[in-house]
Amino acid sequence: MIDSIAVRVPAKVNAQLAVGGRRPDGFHDLANVFLAVGLYDEITVTPADELRITVEGPDADQVPRDRTNLAARAAELLAARHGIEPRVHLHIAKDIPVAGGMAGGSADGAGALLACDALWNTGATREELLDICAELGSDVPFSLVGGAALGRGRGELLTPLTVGGTFHWVFAVADGGLSTPAVYGECDRLRAERGAGDTIDDVPAPEPSAALLDALRAGDATALAAALTAGPDGSSNDLQAAAVSLRPALADTLRAGTTAGALASLVSGSGPTCAFLAKDAAGAEQVATALAASGTCRTARVAASPAAGATVVREDRRA
Ligand code: ATP
Repeated sequence: MIDSIAVRVPAKVNAQLAVGGRRPDGFHDLANVFLAVGLYDEITVTPADELRITVEGPDADQVPRDRTNLAARAAELLAARHGIEPRVHLHIAKDIPVAGGMAGGSADGAGALLACDALWNTGATREELLDICAELGSDVPFSLVGGAALGRGRGELLTPLTVGGTFHWVFAVADGGLSTPAVYGECDRLRAERGAGDTIDDVPAPEPSAALLDALRAGDATALAAALTAGPDGSSNDLQAAAVSLRPALADTLRAGTTAGALASLVSGSGPTCAFLAKDAAGAEQVATALAASGTCRTARVAASPAAGATVVREDRRA
């Protein structure tokens, strides 16, 4: 009899986030180049009398403990499909910044799904799990598969990408999060203000950058840095200008990383975490030390990519 199962799930950085115009359903079509990075949440599931969530970690107080938590929703969705009562205790050891643009909530959803599936032995196929992930949120399927992938649609239609080496990153974690819908709203507002229009009829369909995919395939950090800072706004992330508009201090953080010797600086997803590409592991440590001393972020973390997706790391069995 299984007593508990622990699953480790990585954070993500968007090497590219090309955002199309707003669709009639309110979402945006994306060309989203996901890279899983080695910062992890760990979700442990244990049988219990009722569905219960506990959270530990520096940002634990910002994580909902109720049924809005993506880990709880994942357990409920899987249970409903298989006629099971979701009587589990989900414990989240949270190391991924909350509301930081690194898909922390999505990671917990994917992790809880994999853990509950193993605990209940549902026999669900990988396709069914991915289907539930897409129902939970646009970034959740990628949290399950990890590695590197191109996400189309809202980001949930994944094609795996080949990465020819290890990339070394620094993440500057900000105090307080940014709401993802608010950042998309600001992106639309800035586009309309420029007179470019903000709907799918106005904005060109988002496409992945061939130079960026080539750089990933080659494992070439210098070429990747050039692709990360290409484009009219000087970033492969179309949400960067909107995140900086809502949180102007991010411009100082980005500048501090460049001054510290990062090959490229960009906002991670919808922010406010900023991502810095370094030449190698030693370069990343150097940039992290300088950023931590710069006073432009709460903390700086180093992590390498690509990282594996959601993985069972422990299984305790009762004697
Ligand atoms: P993304 O990069 O996918 O846009 P994010 O990293 O910016 O997401 P999350 O950490 O996923 O943001 O949190 C966004 C919001 O989701 C939080 O403010 C919180 O209210 C809610 N949330 C639900 N479940 C979780 C969870 N398990 N961990 C963190 N936040 C959660």
